[in-house]
Order: sequence, then C-alpha cells, then structure tokens
Amino acid sequence: MNLPFFLARRFVAGETLEKTLPVAHQLRAQGLFTTLDLLGEYISERELAEQARDAYLGLLTALGKQTGIDRNISIKLSMLGQKIDESFCLDNLHQVLSLAKDTGTFVRLDMEGSDVTSSTVGILERVHPEYPENVGIVLQAYLKRTREDIDRMCELGARVRLCKGAYKEPAAVAWQDMTQIRERYLEYMDVLMQRGKYPGIATHDDILINAAKEYVSENAVASDRFEFQMLYGIRTETQKDMVGAGFNMRVYIPYGSMWYPYFSRRLRERKENVWFILKHMFVR
Ligand SMILES: Cc1cc2nc3c(=O)[nH]c(=O)nc-3n(C[C@H](O)[C@H](O)[C@H](O)COP(=O)(O)OP(=O)(O)OC[C@H]3O[C@@H](n4cnc5c(N)ncnc54)[C@H](O)[C@@H]3O)c2cc1C
Repeated sequence: MNLPFFLARRFVAGETLEKTLPVAHQLRAQGLFTTLDLLGEYISERELAEQARDAYLGLLTALGKQTGIDRNISIKLSMLGQKIDESFCLDNLHQVLSLAKDTGTFVRLDMEGSDVTSSTVGILERVHPEYPENVGIVLQAYLKRTREDIDRMCELGARVRLCKGAYKEPAAVAWQDMTQIRERYLEYMDVLMQRGKYPGIATHDDILINAAKEYVSENAVASDRFEFQMLYGIRTETQKDMVGAGFNMRVYIPYGSMWYPYFSRRLRERKENVWFILKHMFVR
C-alpha cells in the first residue's frame, strides 16, 4: 500500500537512519535506553535477504561510530531468509552477530508468526553459545508452547524480551482471551525474574506494569536486573515517568521505508489509533 509517511510518523521514527539517529540521541538524553529496528519482514528471495543482511551490517557499522546511544538493535530472521532456507539464514545471521560482537552491540531476534517460532528458538540456541553477550530473543505470552521455551532460554542463559504477541494466531496454538494471556504473562515474568538473564518486560498494559512493579518490590529485585520496554510513540509520558521512578526503560524505535506492516499492526491493536490517522488524513 502506498500511504504517505507522515501518517506513520507517530510510530515510525524516520524513513532513513540519518533521520532516526537524532531521535535515539534525544531519548537517551531523557534517560531512556533504545533499540533500533530497521523495518521489513518476510523476504522470499535470496538476493533481497542478502540486501537486508547488508543493511543490518550498515546499521551496526553506523551505530558503532556513535557515542552516547545504545548499541542495541532488533532484527527479524524472516528478513535474513529464514523462510527460504534456514542454513542460508543462519549464515547471514552469523555475519550480523560477528560484527555485533566486534562493535559491542546486542542483537534481539524479534519473534514473528507461529510458523517460525520453532525455527527462531532453534536458531537462537545454535548461535547463543558463540555470542552469549550479543544475542537474545523474544517470547510471546499468547503462545501455548511458551512455558517450555522460557525454560529452554533460562537454561541457556539467553536474554528474553517477554511480550503478549502481535500476530493473529489460531486457538490451537495461542490463547485468545486477554485475561488468560495476562495470567500467562505474569507466570512467565515470575520465572524470568527468578531464573532469567536481564529480562525485558515489554508491554504498555498497566495491569502488567503494576503487577511487575509490585513483584520487584515484594521480592526485592534490584532495578538493574531487568528492564521495561515500550514502543516508540506509545505512552511516551509513562516511559519518562518510569525512568523518573528509577526503572530501566528501553524504547523500541522502528525506522525505514518498509513501515507499512508494522504500522498496520499498531493500528489493529487499538481503535483510537485509526481515529488518530483518519484525523490527520483530513487535518494537516
Ligand atoms: C518493546 C516491544 C517489542 C515487541 N516485540 C514484539 C515481537 O518481537 N513480536 C511480537 O509478536 N510482538 C512484539 N511486541 C508487541 C506485543 O506483542 C503487543 O502486541 C503489544 O505490545 C500490545 O500489547 P500490550 O501488552 O502493550 O498491551 P495492550 O493490551 O495492547 O494495551 C494496554 C494499554 O496500552 C496502551 N496501548 C497499547 N497499544 C497501544 C497502541 N498501539 N497505541 C496507543 N496506545 C496503546 C493503551 O493504553 C492500552 O489500553 C512488542 C512490544 C513491545 C513493547
């Protein structure tokens, strides 16, 4: 779909890295940590996957030259050819992680649809022993398999970002009811806080945020043992308030020209966002 970029500006920091880096510096100046996400997904041709790999390498190189912002990026394995050939994807990922190690960057493997969950967990397990400080994963509370994956990641000592899950999944594999999803989320958060390595509590949901705050206070979990994470453009005041309250907060900053799928997921999550966009379509 060919929509003008100004519609996505609330959720997508810029169409280029040059326009996005100042945003990351600005957030850092406010005490927020960041992770940069070059947008794109589901690449079906080898050549395009190689271009995506080179774009990630370019991002790592550029980030390595910056001072004052985090060396932390989020990537999608489907962009590195996961759906074309897993070993080709693994080769591409090795190149990305090797440069990440050289530049002292942490690379988070975003989690996509349930058709690639096994593959993504398996790939993380293969690369983590070689890059233990440079790679981590995302697990989704809505998937029924996630308890087992949480255990696997705790055993491995891999950093996990815990989120609810953003894709439309069938009832056979995923909880559909929000109460059940929240219950699972809190159960997994408990395990990650006890046995996990620096978990990322990624949510904008006050029920979960308040439960996490209560949990860390009751169990005397030091604030440097975990971090909260939110998306760029969502609950920005809350993000700053949480830094003020002494919590680590990381903002996920998407950028790039392929912003439409990410943007439409954010719209689907919340009716108000659609009104926000419609209003800006007519009032400029
Ligand atoms: C840092 C980060 C990384 C993520 N990475 C992944 C990933 O790799 N894979 C994946 O499947 N999902 C990922 N997600 C998305 C996640 O799975 C959820 O789809 C998304 O966070 C919405 O769920 P929620 O828990 O934030 O709360 P919700 O229940 O959706 O919302 C709770 C409240 O938060 C506010 N809010 C929530 N969403 C919006 C919005 N779009 N606009 C405005 N206000 C809003 C509202 O006040 C709302 O009432 C990530 C989320 C975050 C924060």
